[in-house]
Amino acid sequence: MRRIFSSFPSIFIAFLVLTAPLANAADKVVLQLKWTHAYQFAGYYAAKELGYYDIAGLDVKIKPLSPGEDPLQEVVSGRANYGSGTSGILVARQEGAPVVALAAIYQHSPYVLIAKKSPGSEDIHSLDGKPILLRRLSDELLVYLRRQNITLSKVASSVPGMDTVEQLTSGKAAAISGYISNEPYLLAAAGIPAQIYSPRSIGIDIYGDNLFTTSEEINKHPERTERFRLASLQGWEYVLNHPDEAVALVQKYAPQESAAKIQFERDKLQPLIRSDLVPVGFMNEARWQRTVEIFQEAGGLKSDFSLKGFVYNANPKQDLAWIYGALFIAVATLLAVSTVVYYIWRLNKRLTVSLTQVQHLAYHDNLTGLPNRNLFVDRLQRAILKARREKSVLALLFIDIDRFKSINDQFGHSAGDEVLKACCNRMMACIRDSDSLGRIGGDEFVLLLEDLHSSQDALEIAKKIKSAIEIGVTVSGELIHTTASIGIALYPSDSDSEEGLFKRADSAMYKSKQSGRNAIYLYSDVVAQEKI
Ligand code: GH3
Ligand code: MG
Repeated sequence: MRRIFSSFPSIFIAFLVLTAPLANAADKVVLQLKWTHAYQFAGYYAAKELGYYDIAGLDVKIKPLSPGEDPLQEVVSGRANYGSGTSGILVARQEGAPVVALAAIYQHSPYVLIAKKSPGSEDIHSLDGKPILLRRLSDELLVYLRRQNITLSKVASSVPGMDTVEQLTSGKAAAISGYISNEPYLLAAAGIPAQIYSPRSIGIDIYGDNLFTTSEEINKHPERTERFRLASLQGWEYVLNHPDEAVALVQKYAPQESAAKIQFERDKLQPLIRSDLVPVGFMNEARWQRTVEIFQEAGGLKSDFSLKGFVYNANPKQDLAWIYGALFIAVATLLAVSTVVYYIWRLNKRLTVSLTQVQHLAYHDNLTGLPNRNLFVDRLQRAILKARREKSVLALLFIDIDRFKSINDQFGHSAGDEVLKACCNRMMACIRDSDSLGRIGGDEFVLLLEDLHSSQDALEIAKKIKSAIEIGVTVSGELIHTTASIGIALYPSDSDSEEGLFKRADSAMYKSKQSGRNAIYLYSDVVAQEKI
């Protein structure tokens, strides 16, 4: 996760490199440091020296603190665009300065109380009643002392420019505030072992150096702010991954400092960045709230102080870019999915259509569209079951066109087809919707009539059919004479099975043929040798 977070600045820088030709001339901005050049600001030097600011279209002037200068004021007044400050910038905000924290570089504050090491000095209570010098805005140390019940009447603020180490070594102060990376080194160099008291030892744990700006800068230059923030964090990433190069970079800015001193600073400060736990610059509003509470305890912040607007949120444009990006991906995905679904649907439809066609072909006669033998037999079987249940009568009619071969011979096969289709239509016109007509052979049709009262009903339909076919068919202007021979078998009187009904209807039809064609025979009459 941390890797993903930390790669954002790289992605952003890469984006800037690609779009660099489109960018205007570099934006000139000033970064105000809260101290003289030191390792404490190594990430900013790296961002400048390695060209991260250049790539981001920024011409950055890194300005160390001059004697008498207030880094907060430099930024608030607009003389500097960005600044490095402690969590004390909260106090400045309460006083009306519209400061906004852009990134928390140090997850833990390097601020400590420093005294000379002496017997019993490990106990902070050894400082009770003694003069203590605190730098302005070191509220965390005040709270620390208060929580340790140290008398605060002897606590004084150091004057800007005051040499606090000298105050300590000379004994004018029993303890001073300082950076874990600085004063202890100076004391050690003077042969004085330092006694360090850290507020963190009792859980007072607040952000250390922060990168900040004003809401005015963010509103006027939201994109520039984001470029500056990301390029700076990229610099910090670099120094954390290149500790030796970092020392050389700092030396370039602070040539008066020895490599040993810078290394000492690096070794003390790097652990406070906690890049092993969170991406560099990570801020958490809940943690800022705890910081507020500590400052409130010290009296530095009022009880109604609100953090609203203090913790920077990537600028709206950036947010919109992400939203647009996400929307684009969503729409593209939707389109892709819709296309795939559409093609699947079309394929499925085609398959369904062909499947329906195959099914139709399997159960229907191609020429007339009537049910073929298979489907007709199925319907007959169901009809028999129904008639059995309902104790009703059904009839099966066999209808065979007379001398059809000669029609084919005389008028041609296609004319024969037309005759078959015309006969089919004529028969369909004689029956009810509930009746089923099928074609089971060349010129052989079968008709299922359900819910009959008697054989008479079947005979009536048969007569209608016989008459309809007798009319003849006109094909290509020529009248073709047609007749049909019909045989009828009844359920349940003639047979109670589909097979039996087929046989008996067929033999009744055969009887019609034998009798000279264009005739109707009931199977029962065939049996009785009675011609109708
Ligand atoms: P019958 O009066 O005894 O029924 O004599 P028929 O000439 O009609 O002879 P039958 O019913 O035995 O033969 C039917 C003929 O119908 C056989 C075949 O040549 C012809 N036929 C079969 N299927 C088709 C078809 O799809 N189209 C056409 N045009 N003729 C067909
Ligand atoms: Mg025939």
